[in-house]
Amino acid sequence: MRVPVLTYHAQNIAGNDYAGNDLVAFGEDLRLIDDLGLRIVPLQSVVARLLGRSDEDLTGCVALSCDDGTDFDVRDLRDPTWGPQRSLKGRMDDFIAERGADAQPGLHLTAFVVASPMARTDIDAQCLSGQGWMSEDWWAQAAASGRFAIENHSWDHNHDAIRFPGIAGMARGDFHQVDDRERARAEVADAARYIDQRTAPRRTSLFCYPFGHVPDYLLREYFPRHGDEHGMLAAVSDGACPVTPASDRWLLPRYIRGWHWKSPQDLEAILRDATGR
Ligand SMILES: [Zn+2]
Repeated sequence: MRVPVLTYHAQNIAGNDYAGNDLVAFGEDLRLIDDLGLRIVPLQSVVARLLGRSDEDLTGCVALSCDDGTDFDVRDLRDPTWGPQRSLKGRMDDFIAERGADAQPGLHLTAFVVASPMARTDIDAQCLSGQGWMSEDWWAQAAASGRFAIENHSWDHNHDAIRFPGIAGMARGDFHQVDDRERARAEVADAARYIDQRTAPRRTSLFCYPFGHVPDYLLREYFPRHGDEHGMLAAVSDGACPVTPASDRWLLPRYIRGWHWKSPQDLEAILRDATGR
């Protein structure tokens, strides 16, 4: 198994071309993946295989994820600078309309969302355009659609846009601060519980480290030893290599669009190298 996991930030809109727009890139990348004869599978299937809970053959497979849970994931919105934007969901719909549902029957996107409504309000105000574009009213429907999983991107991202002090004295803007049980419980377990209540009967099982910051305490202690509290099966970060049987389940690597690849040519090289196609 050598499965590349690709990551998008739907709110990364600095133009309307591939280089400056994750939404445009996502739409083009779906076609590229399909053109290369690769198969899109849910990230949860990759984790199940890694943990020996399935024996699915994942040769030639790719998994897709998106971070932060802005409404650009599922809603067509008008960016104040760059105009109308087709969502990630819309681009999956377009792909299906163009190539048929049979082209990629496993087409699926894992959206890592921030749980705390107060955190989302403040991040939306500071980092987006303050129009309520980090809502939660789409989570349940997306999760029920079969094309999405809603997963755990922490309680509040410990984001520095938030007006309130960090949990348990944490300095904002740094997820490495999550270095003890109280902080871990708040950022991981409480977030899982909140999201699960809104997407029931589905449950979160994957965590995504905010800012790509991987606290030693979470990696070595909290995730491996307190599964009954947090309920997570695996955690993802960056790392720019495929998931293999040797991957650490608490530090699964991903490729981040705009960082690890900036053009379709870059991505094709990544996919060919990772999958051997
Ligand atoms: Zn994030």
